[in-house]
Amino acid sequence: MSTLPASREFEFTLPVGYTDDEGRAHRSVVLRKMTGREEAILADRRFQRNGGQLVTELLHSCLIRVGDLPKNGRSTVAGMYSADRNYLLLKLRSITFGPELEASYTCPSCSDTIQIDEDLDDLPVTVLSEDSPEDVTMELGDGYVDREGQVHTALTLRLPTGVDEEAVAPQMRQNASLGKNALLARCLKSLGDLPRHRMEALGPKILADLTMTDRRMIDRALNEAAPGVNLVRQIECPNCGHLFKANLDMTHFLSPE
Ligand SMILES: [Zn+2]
Repeated sequence: MSTLPASREFEFTLPVGYTDDEGRAHRSVVLRKMTGREEAILADRRFQRNGGQLVTELLHSCLIRVGDLPKNGRSTVAGMYSADRNYLLLKLRSITFGPELEASYTCPSCSDTIQIDEDLDDLPVTVLSEDSPEDVTMELGDGYVDREGQVHTALTLRLPTGVDEEAVAPQMRQNASLGKNALLARCLKSLGDLPRHRMEALGPKILADLTMTDRRMIDRALNEAAPGVNLVRQIECPNCGHLFKANLDMTHFLSPE
């Protein structure tokens, strides 16, 4: 038995934390750099069809320790909040290939292409102070109209996990918007006084029926409330001076130039 050189292992604190079956929260994790084994996972066609499974497999392979859990199987990684999984994925990239990420954005005003060298370690991270995340609640502007014509506006969502990501990956792959409906439907805890069985029977159809105004409101509420890494970048176009927001360009995330 020999231990790995220290430079291959890195300790991080999860923004949300993993709660085990006994209700104990684990925040501290140890990751190791990616190796040829993970290169094989990345190239595996089975995982290319399901982004959620790919992330589970990669993290499971590189996570040496989660809190003081005796062992962490795939189900531990799948049970983690998406916010923590995304955070770990970012750190995995950063410790293996470095934090510099070549990104490119298109200005919505003048269509110019803007090249930016992003620093993954500089992205803002929101860390929860308590050990279990609160649900995201909001009041929709237009609301959901049920078949009796009643309008439901009070919406409660829980934060998505890896299990959710894996479940909606086929829809996400087909169509990002339908994928998002499926994901939100899984996370929907309540909508006005719509009975639970009704809500479950309708599923993603509820989300599809909401106005785009309400859908944007949900996006914003999730982004504001969400713990984890903020992937929204503020960009100023050097050509025309236009200020805009864009999601971090991850094209070269796992295949750096
Ligand atoms: Zn511009």
